[in-house]
Amino acid sequence: MQAEATQAKSQAEQSPIFLQNKKLLGKNEYVVPDNVLMAFKSVVDTSGLLGKQTIPEGVTLHANFLESKFLRMTFRGKERKFLSKLKKLGYSQQEAEHHVSVFVAGNIIFSHSGTMAPDFELGKLAHERLHMRIHNLPKEQANVLNEARDAILAADSRMLEKQTDEIGLVLKKEKNGELTAWQAYEEKNKLSESHPMILKENSKTSSIPGFFEMTVRTRPIEFYTYMLMGRLDPSVEQYVKEHYPKSYAIYDSLRSSIMSEIEEAKKK
Ligand SMILES: [Zn+2]
Repeated sequence: MQAEATQAKSQAEQSPIFLQNKKLLGKNEYVVPDNVLMAFKSVVDTSGLLGKQTIPEGVTLHANFLESKFLRMTFRGKERKFLSKLKKLGYSQQEAEHHVSVFVAGNIIFSHSGTMAPDFELGKLAHERLHMRIHNLPKEQANVLNEARDAILAADSRMLEKQTDEIGLVLKKEKNGELTAWQAYEEKNKLSESHPMILKENSKTSSIPGFFEMTVRTRPIEFYTYMLMGRLDPSVEQYVKEHYPKSYAIYDSLRSSIMSEIEEAKKK
């Protein structure tokens, strides 16, 4: 077991891409071996926090998830559980304590796999930083951002409902024999063209059609992060810019400061 943990560490450390990406990390950003993040995930067990991936690639800690707020008796109980899990994985007391110590509110933690991912810069680092920056915004500014996002998603879902109803009508007509299969097909095409959805994914970056759209609909917290990553169609960003200029200004200033920090770190 000891050997396994040590080996995993050295393998990552030998990877040039890992070392290169690790240099981009700033204050409050840490890398831990995959099994450490997995152990954390199993201890805190907060659904949705780390997604459903088997190996989480990164996590933004908005709170001290290892602290139990409710039961004074078991205060730090999760921390102890985490520590013992790490020791069972073969980490020494010192290593385990070090790993546990980075899992506190305000930190962003990446796994080795996440750090070696081909889209680390935009997909992991910039993405998690944006989550953190939005979380740390003064309440008033955060509200401006979130209200725009919620209004867009609400308008989008109304549109989706309307479209579904209209398509239902076409299908009914086809069933009744009022429309031929071909006519129904053409009607459906016309409908999707006449009611363009606001929320549209960037089909160039999507390998499963509709996946990014669905993710944003079910996890609105990913609206701005997906925009930053280029997962949404450029028309979405344009829409925010035109209809919610205040929100756009906040988003854009966060985005540009995050990107220029990354560019600066690359020069080092
Ligand atoms: Zn995210």
